[in-house]
Amino acid sequence: MNPGHSFDLQGSGFTSPRTRDRLITRLIAQGIRDQRVLDILRQTPRHIFVDEALAHRAYEDTALPIGHSQTLSQPYIVARMTELLLTTGPLTKVLEIGTGSGYQTAVLAQVAGIVHSIERIKALQDKARERLSALGLHNVRLRHADGLQGWPGEGGYDAIIGTAAALGVPSSLTDLLAPGGRLVLPVGGPQSQQLVLVTRLADGLQQQVVEPVNFVPMLGGVV
Ligand code: SAH
Repeated sequence: MNPGHSFDLQGSGFTSPRTRDRLITRLIAQGIRDQRVLDILRQTPRHIFVDEALAHRAYEDTALPIGHSQTLSQPYIVARMTELLLTTGPLTKVLEIGTGSGYQTAVLAQVAGIVHSIERIKALQDKARERLSALGLHNVRLRHADGLQGWPGEGGYDAIIGTAAALGVPSSLTDLLAPGGRLVLPVGGPQSQQLVLVTRLADGLQQQVVEPVNFVPMLGGVV
């Protein structure tokens, strides 16, 4: 924690509850149906996940820069990915690749028993840790590493989410799914990406293409 750092969790003006409600109305119009997801997005202060200079744009349905050439995902896509993971019921143990700002992590922490989140850029991880702690979300463990290597000694995840685009579906991640578990991940290069949902069934993996998306690339190594 950064001592003395305080966040305006309630928000006012462009970050007020009224502004947040407008975002939720928009998400419903775009087809987000899961009430838990809508409630969590309404309650989670997205404005603390960006620099103060961008806080007034936090409840627009748009991706926002978080430094290091990375972006906080668009609220619609955060809602959509979370909804896809929740269709089979509450989540026990979730793995996230790409903590970034920690916003998606904060959303997941409110629907899962425990969230493991891996980020390759230390500076982003440090800020995310501060925000998650300010929100009192203590069921999150963060790791500074290449997420494609998984979490040593861990597996049996009922949900895995990738928030950066991989060139294919990595078996290093599908191997970590519990039976019935789901992986949601953008797949493709910079020109064309699809959101892919992979479910681990008794007789193998079932893959479903959800919709076109636009994510930063999944990269190897740590910085
Ligand atoms: N969910 C985040 C998205 C951040 S952008 C948010 O809403 O803020 C994607 C993130 O994935 C970046 O922070 C990037 O550094 C991270 N990333 C990319 N490749 C990675 C890898 N192999 N392992 C871990 N993190 C990775």
